Amino acid sequence: MGLIRRGGCQAVTACLLSVLWSAQLGAQTPVPVSAEVRVDSSVAVEFGQLTANAQVRAALEAIAAGEPETIAEQIRLTEIPAPPFLEQQRAEYYLQQMQRRGLPEAYIDAEGNVIGLYRGSGEGPLLAIAAHLDTVFPLETDLAVEQRDGRYYAPGISDDGRGLTVLLTLIETLSSSAITTRGDILFIGNVGEEGLGDLRGIKAIFRDFPKIDGFVSIDGSGLNGITTGATGSRRFEVVFTGPGGHSFSAFGLVSAIHAMGRAIANISELETPSEPKTTFTVGTVSGGTSVNSIAAHAAFELDMRSNDAGELVRLEQRVREAVQAGVAAENTRWDNNGEITVDFRLIGDRPSGSTSVDNPIVQVAALAMAEAGGELQALRISSTDSNIPMALGIPAITITGGGDSGGEHSPEEWFDPRDSERGPQMAWLLVLGLVGVEGTSAPLLQRRAP
Ligand SMILES: [Zn+2]
Repeated sequence: MGLIRRGGCQAVTACLLSVLWSAQLGAQTPVPVSAEVRVDSSVAVEFGQLTANAQVRAALEAIAAGEPETIAEQIRLTEIPAPPFLEQQRAEYYLQQMQRRGLPEAYIDAEGNVIGLYRGSGEGPLLAIAAHLDTVFPLETDLAVEQRDGRYYAPGISDDGRGLTVLLTLIETLSSSAITTRGDILFIGNVGEEGLGDLRGIKAIFRDFPKIDGFVSIDGSGLNGITTGATGSRRFEVVFTGPGGHSFSAFGLVSAIHAMGRAIANISELETPSEPKTTFTVGTVSGGTSVNSIAAHAAFELDMRSNDAGELVRLEQRVREAVQAGVAAENTRWDNNGEITVDFRLIGDRPSGSTSVDNPIVQVAALAMAEAGGELQALRISSTDSNIPMALGIPAITITGGGDSGGEHSPEEWFDPRDSERGPQMAWLLVLGLVGVEGTSAPLLQRRAP
């Protein structure tokens, strides 16, 4: 996840406590809890009723008491390989865990997602909450978890072993408590979040469940940020093709590699805005047959990203022009002795989008984080599973699962379990706040119009 800080507050917990306090006193105006998050007094009052409920509080204690088992499960899950497009073994284990913990009708869909529906009393919204099964690591990677200096080391232990496990803890907490939620909760262990997976799992979810009213992704560790913005990306393989020939006897013929070089040189000169952040890079190149051949084939892979959908469209247009100009220059250079053609193949498409900081989903997340003992330091813009609902205009955020971590996407990835029970505690309060609890609190997630 690439992160951008958009704001901060030095003492958010204190701010939030004062929000709750003033809300209980009947304040009517929204109160700022950080540079950007304000909590409506009506939201604070409803959330206060939830946190005052004895069963809700007992569950928070049960989550803390069960944290060693949560971490043991995190280790078991992490040690099951799940490279992109090869998530099946982990998915089957995850399905068993969902079923065992209270969702016997859970299943695996055609895309490979593990899905379990928890039914409320039927009077509330449908909330989807997800963590991703896939990792960036190839099948042969050593996934054995090692404990050193109070930390757990293993590829994927945090991203997203932590989110997956927090989801299971939520299911178990719900099914072992006497609480009835008002809304329904769709629990999802999804495929295809990383790299060329291209968010295929969550794309399938929003194709199959058009009535989802809100979405939460739990991705990685920590308890100090909420992702409310989606970095969009477009990725292409750009393929150059020509006649090819002998380097000496056919000299004077157009070259696929020379054309590609010109195209890359043109791309490298492009300038993009720093705000909204917009980026590009040619990440890989390939091509040619031998040192003494004029190349018949060449290709590069290109990554383009922006926090703004319009900027991404503009960048792609300019890149296409830069490539066409490079090809034309190569063909002209050799007086059209042979012809280079170029083909753009789309290999990645993640839409950009955002969730308003005024949306109740953000407000409830901020309150839940403070109540669990976290400190909201930043709203973030990143590329996560929330890109899909954000682009559809459905309220969505990505949160983290508590504890601390580092080295994501590297073999040295680690998870630090200090205070990590706060992650599932925050998720518990967030979910209940959004779907509402019978006899206690109204759902704070609004149903979308049909
Ligand atoms: Zn992740």
